[in-house]
Amino acid sequence: MTKIYSYTKLASFEHCPLKYKFRYIDWIIPTVEKSIESVLGKAVHSALEWLYIRVKQGYIPTIDEVIIEYSKEWQEDFNENLVINNPKLTPIDYFNKGIEFLATYYTQNKPFDENTLETEKKIILYLDENKEYKLQGFVDRLAYNLKTKEYEIHDYKTANSIPTKQELEQNKQLALYSIAIKKEFGENKRVTLIWHFLAHNKKIEIKKTNQELEKLKKETIELIKKIESATEFPHQKSRLCNWCEYLSICPAWGNTPPIKQEKNPAKDTATSKKEISPTTKQEIPIKKEITLTTKQDKPDIKDKQESLDKYPTTKKYIKD
Ligand code: SF4
Repeated sequence: MTKIYSYTKLASFEHCPLKYKFRYIDWIIPTVEKSIESVLGKAVHSALEWLYIRVKQGYIPTIDEVIIEYSKEWQEDFNENLVINNPKLTPIDYFNKGIEFLATYYTQNKPFDENTLETEKKIILYLDENKEYKLQGFVDRLAYNLKTKEYEIHDYKTANSIPTKQELEQNKQLALYSIAIKKEFGENKRVTLIWHFLAHNKKIEIKKTNQELEKLKKETIELIKKIESATEFPHQKSRLCNWCEYLSICPAWGNTPPIKQEKNPAKDTATSKKEISPTTKQEIPIKKEITLTTKQDKPDIKDKQESLDKYPTTKKYIKD
């Protein structure tokens, strides 16, 4: 039987086996309050996707159109109860950040002629010959650069943090996706991994050799085997604990995990099924056994025009 993994799931085990157990074995699903940073990231990604779809169709949208698209996406998700991690910033500051990211990106990349093949491309990679281990994910944008004759995997980042090139060399996600691209388009094709750190107006590119990718593939299979044979899931404290959704139940921090419920075989079948959200790219359990908090109902902005009017600075980028 094929076992499906995502990069997020594998990374979760590597960062902290206990966190992996909470999430993927005990099915403890935390209800995370939606942050304004996630709304910003999603709206920027959607606007760039919209832009490149139009470019593929032979039309280059104006910056005004891209920002209007961004504004629409923002309004879809924005509500007054979003968590704001930086108390020095207001929602309008965040909204304007997105406009600046897009305006800078637009100016530097117009006419967007890297020959984009697909946006939000679904990646399916069988890691072994017997197709026992399958990896799924999404690429923000895939292009075939006609000048360099290289495939390009583009990934957009809207967070403030920026890793070094050496740190990105260790990043497995895009490298694994590039194996799938090579399988689809030819093992000897060259693939460049490109991260766009929009908050820093910086692009970092990395190339992997076939030997490095083969090694990564073998290491990933070994990691999956290690996960599947694991009987103990020790906690692994690190600076990532600050952002861990399980901190409040983590024994490593003196907290008590919830008592695990008795398993119901019928329910187990249902919980073993997962789906991948094309928007969040996260695996979403169809059923869940335990929730940590009760989700709050949050009012959505009903009147979109009213919301648009809340952001007059948009007009700064819109030509007459
Ligand atoms: S808080 Fe830290 S140690 Fe505890 S589960 Fe999360 S990542 Fe692991």
